[in-house]
Amino acid sequence: MSQSQAHDDNNVDKLDPNWRSDALNLNLDYGMQTIAVRAGQHRTDEGEHSEAIFTTSSYVYTSAADAAAHFNGEKTGNVYSRHTNPSVRTFERRLAALENGERAVATASGMGAILTMCLAYLKAGDHLLAANQLFGSSIGLFNNYMAKFGVEVSYVDCFDNEAWAKAVQPNTKVIYCESPSNPLAQICDIGYLSQLCKANDILLVVDNCFATPALQRPLDLGADVVIHSATKYLDGQGRVLGGALVGSDKLMQEAFTVVRSGGISMSPFNAWVFTKGLETLKLRMQAHCQNANQVAEFLVNHPNVSTVHFSGLSDHPAHELATRQHHMKGGYGAIMGFEVKASDSTDSNSRDSKAAAWHVIDSTQMVSITNNLGDAKTTITHPATTTHFRLTAEARAEAGVKDGLIRLSVGLEDVEDIIKDLARGLDSL
Ligand SMILES: *Cc1c(COP(=O)(O)O)cnc(C)c1O
Repeated sequence: MSQSQAHDDNNVDKLDPNWRSDALNLNLDYGMQTIAVRAGQHRTDEGEHSEAIFTTSSYVYTSAADAAAHFNGEKTGNVYSRHTNPSVRTFERRLAALENGERAVATASGMGAILTMCLAYLKAGDHLLAANQLFGSSIGLFNNYMAKFGVEVSYVDCFDNEAWAKAVQPNTKVIYCESPSNPLAQICDIGYLSQLCKANDILLVVDNCFATPALQRPLDLGADVVIHSATKYLDGQGRVLGGALVGSDKLMQEAFTVVRSGGISMSPFNAWVFTKGLETLKLRMQAHCQNANQVAEFLVNHPNVSTVHFSGLSDHPAHELATRQHHMKGGYGAIMGFEVKASDSTDSNSRDSKAAAWHVIDSTQMVSITNNLGDAKTTITHPATTTHFRLTAEARAEAGVKDGLIRLSVGLEDVEDIIKDLARGLDSL
């Protein structure tokens, strides 16, 4: 066996006895909150209670023969932290269990996970079919880099099932979507897309960043691969960057070899932050969602707001679909877009609307003006001039990013204070 083959087989999930003290056998039928707190822990002989951080780049062998055995495939085990690391593995195992996947592969960032997905599952001549409402950098990656390497890319309206079916080509290999999407919190029918993909031998990849497994498990709905920007809710406090893919052993092995070869690996410290973040994910998401539902109610009733994009509102076109798809009752996520009316214009895509949106943003005193989201702190963003600034005007229009659009990521502060802060600018337009 060649050295590279040996490394391809380096699947640490099967790494007993090195992983002997897993605190929880994932095959047992534990509830989600138990899994979030306990799954994947690798306890050392020191008997530490909390998960340790393994800040090491390499690993030692007992002898030259032992080292050789790790390289020629006779033994599996840690070789180098670009490949595997116990802290990263703990996070991967815990996230895989929460997403109900066989295996997770951690990456240095959410974009790293999306790049890994492209490199693992696409090649020149293939077609990537994506939703037109996506995180701005995802569109940039697809258009600027995947296209450069000969991957054909096209986009459809994520809520339009007929458009998805029509856009499938003989060379379509991946369908890619976010649900809820960025920045308009639009919902994709994952069950429908899964059937479409199965009928056409296509992989369905869902970015579950806005919902998290606390609200939605795309694999249970028929997706093949789940993508995370762990930077957002999995951390939940805006501290570190990270990402992950989750899916079957086979698909994750392909992703793992890309991460290891390309160096898209997660830092052990970041993995530890995410591992601890997962312990409170469900509780935080419940509180985020409750706050978001109240903020959406406030915005929809405000005379200077023309549109609120949030599937938690009962008249939202995807309200029923989101209710069905999300397993947390009353959980629609905590990110919403809303369009501000310029006082002298009803057009929410004008320079006046941009000024009005900036006024609302600049009038806040507590809410953070930042492009991050999924944080305990409420954040406010003007997508047209920040996260989606680099897109062409047409791509922005297609994504529904108007000049009057504000994106809000509702945090964990007292909801009355969040509403008061938004009202400052909205009341004085
Ligand atoms: C932030 C984000 C990403 C990218 O993640 P990074 O960790 O910033 O690289 C991808 N998808 C969605 C939906 C995001 O919000």
